Amino acid sequence: MTQKAFIYSPELEAYPYPPSCPFNTSRAGKARAILTSMGLLIGDDKIEVAPPPATREVLETFHTPEYLDALERLNRGEYDSEMLYFGLGTGDCPAFKGVWDYSVLACGASVLGAEWIVQGKASVAFNPSGGLHHAFPDRAAGFCYLNDVVLGCETLAKGNKRVVFLDIDVHHTDGVQAAFYDRNDVMTISLHQDGRTLFPGTGFVEEIGEGEGKGYAINIPLPMGTYDEAYLRAVRQVVLPLIHAFGPDVLALEIGADTLSGDPLANLSLTNNVIADVIGLLRAFGKPILATGGGGYHVDNTARAWALAWTALCGEDAGADAAAGLGGVMLETADWHGGLRDRVLAPSEAQKCSVDQILNITLDSVKKLVFPHHGL
Ligand SMILES: [Zn+2]
Repeated sequence: MTQKAFIYSPELEAYPYPPSCPFNTSRAGKARAILTSMGLLIGDDKIEVAPPPATREVLETFHTPEYLDALERLNRGEYDSEMLYFGLGTGDCPAFKGVWDYSVLACGASVLGAEWIVQGKASVAFNPSGGLHHAFPDRAAGFCYLNDVVLGCETLAKGNKRVVFLDIDVHHTDGVQAAFYDRNDVMTISLHQDGRTLFPGTGFVEEIGEGEGKGYAINIPLPMGTYDEAYLRAVRQVVLPLIHAFGPDVLALEIGADTLSGDPLANLSLTNNVIADVIGLLRAFGKPILATGGGGYHVDNTARAWALAWTALCGEDAGADAAAGLGGVMLETADWHGGLRDRVLAPSEAQKCSVDQILNITLDSVKKLVFPHHGL
């Protein structure tokens, strides 16, 4: 029987980042606690599984041995100036006890999810502790030390799966894009706040891949203030046709919740309804989904968004049923409906006007640059 696997271990919370760093490793456990309290974590075909740490062999399929050695030394409390060369010991990627232990476990979780999908054991795998999409082969960046997303997608690709990786974190998926930039077996699609106004400063529409990968890297930079309806328009007009044309065996999804209105590090105005709706649209392709967490610096909002994401991944998101006119079929208690979804957040007229104007130009450019590579 194929299962839906929530991949988590309390050990993932044993190595917290320093308090000065906004990346909070308790978010996955908080999402899990919400789901447990609502009776939605496990049951029927839904299981929870603890990940093993990623092996050195798997890590070296993306990361350099020199960088891995440095990160292990950092884990032991050793620090030398050479580490700055690897982006270690900076404000964004501080040195802390357990940095290696946390990172290899988060990677092991995404790799395990990918392996289960390749083996046909899982139709859905969700690693809320992953989504570390800014890590490069020999460089830490943006709170990310080891890139579990790349390792997960690579595991799928080695299992002869063609993959569409969609990244809905507010930051551009620079590390993942770079890893697959010249390949056509893993398509990367990133929706993110425009790089001119947010880290890491990349992800422009002109970045479309190179060589055999030309047309297989897609970037949709979004203006500040982007609201739900505009975001979903981008997904429907660009993302869905590309997935359809590519015809993947597996979908991978990075669910950063730093797109949500009120996130302290970014400037979009989304509600978590978008996350559930995007997952609903992906599920309609009928393919296995490997999902990870990601950013999200309002801890409570992020935990609730990931709890909602798990229900949506499992096809149990009541809001979507209600929206489709099937209201209530999944409801078992009166307070479940709308309990995880945010209230609708209507944009102001001025916001709508300025976002629409910029977004329409962007979507036209992406279609012009990328669609012809896929017969669209
Ligand atoms: Zn982010």
